[in-house]
Amino acid sequence: MSRRIVVVGGGAGGMGAAGGAKAADPDSEVIVYTSYDDVAYSPCGIPYVHGKEIDSFERLFLASKQDYVDAGVDVRYQANVTSVDVSRKVIQVADAGEVAWDTLVLATGFNYADPGVPGGDLGGLYYVKDIREAIEWDKVLDTVKSAVVVEASPLGVEMVTALAHRGIETHLVDPSPWPMSEMADPDIMAPVEDSWSELGVTTHFNTTLKAFLGDGGHVRAVSTSAGDITADLAVVCTHKEPNNALGVTAGLKTGSTGGFIVDEQMATSAAGVFAAGDCTEIPNGLTGVPLQGLTGSHAYAQGKAAGINAAGGARTYNAVYVPWGTAAGKWIIGGASFGETTASALGIPYVVGSAQGISRARYYPGVKPVKVKLLAEPETLRLLGAQMVGGEGIKERADFLAVAIRFGLTLHDLAGMENVYSPAIGALNEPIVVAARNGVDTVQG
Ligand SMILES: Cc1cc2nc3c(=O)[nH]c(=O)nc-3n(C[C@H](O)[C@H](O)[C@H](O)COP(=O)(O)OP(=O)(O)OC[C@H]3O[C@@H](n4cnc5c(N)ncnc54)[C@H](O)[C@@H]3O)c2cc1C
Repeated sequence: MSRRIVVVGGGAGGMGAAGGAKAADPDSEVIVYTSYDDVAYSPCGIPYVHGKEIDSFERLFLASKQDYVDAGVDVRYQANVTSVDVSRKVIQVADAGEVAWDTLVLATGFNYADPGVPGGDLGGLYYVKDIREAIEWDKVLDTVKSAVVVEASPLGVEMVTALAHRGIETHLVDPSPWPMSEMADPDIMAPVEDSWSELGVTTHFNTTLKAFLGDGGHVRAVSTSAGDITADLAVVCTHKEPNNALGVTAGLKTGSTGGFIVDEQMATSAAGVFAAGDCTEIPNGLTGVPLQGLTGSHAYAQGKAAGINAAGGARTYNAVYVPWGTAAGKWIIGGASFGETTASALGIPYVVGSAQGISRARYYPGVKPVKVKLLAEPETLRLLGAQMVGGEGIKERADFLAVAIRFGLTLHDLAGMENVYSPAIGALNEPIVVAARNGVDTVQG
């Protein structure tokens, strides 16, 4: 009899798991339950449709429902799983009763943290996630004059930029002194704040959300520690919390972040149960500090590993070094592992090498600035982290630097690194090399 693998979740983690399971054991029965109407769309593209950089939501669909039927993956849409019983190896599905499994993958994702202020039930509060809802909200945006984005999380940063591009009077409210303060350093975010000013965005940092104020059941203003801001719409971009209720009730162990604890096979504390994506926590490879709510690419890779292992295969998923990046205002920001703010908060000693470079030959049209900042251990100069802001080439550098950190490269190694020089795509002096050289010179006096 074929093995039945049940996946709860149709996001990047769940669909990665379904694909991984089917590839590892083509004879297995793979059933995916999702509470949404769709799978295989990119939520990551939603802010860019709102900002009109992408002309239609249709473009965000990556595969059709028929593609999954053809691949032998049985997706059950609008199907809510209400409980998991790990001893009897069954799940309970609303309106469909009990379903038995041989192995189970939980990929239930994240929920935005409850802002926890009065007025949370008003109309006009937008939590960006489901594409069907995004399509409806996009029509609303045509009527919105002013909007408040609550919290400068990575999504908040994207939504501020999108709403400003859309011509909406946009305010950003955040309790921290600068945007994305949990992961990015202030010097990296300063150019972004400047470019938001140019776009007409009003930022309110060091400012606490007090309430959503309404008229006739609809938001009309956002009350903050610095006063009220009139708004037709509030986009709530609070911290991503693990959607862990199903697994917690079933007795699965969670860690300090609330994410499911998994081993290198993405196996949870319950036999035969795997987990992937934003409902899990994964250690940072340098510090061992557990991280939750990483990115869609992490969720997908974790899902693949979980699905392969749930189907009897063997794939390990290791600690992470977290390359990250996004467009923000007119700039691109990014990095790997952590920056100065996190290092200081964790009490990790570091030295810095930084450089302001360029992305192409200085005479080539379209050349853009690229700032690179590298953090290294004071004694060994082993790379600890990187932060960047610039006009292009940030993503590739972030990916490379995450690998460099993973494999223990030092500032000496990077200072001696070879690089591509070709006028249209790269400058003679690679900014990473210059930053590393500056770091070495600083340490050596
Ligand atoms: C607007 C937006 C922009 C983003 N931008 C980026 C980006 O630029 N780059 C990037 O890498 N990532 C991006 N992400 C990805 C994101 O940040 C997450 O990392 C990713 O969505 C996590 O995937 P997941 O599969 O773990 O969870 P989710 O995407 O949260 O999916 C969870 C799934 O579980 C299902 N589910 C939950 N509970 C139940 C239940 N009880 N019964 C049935 N089904 C259930 C849901 O229906 C859903 O299908 C973005 C996400 C959003 C929403």
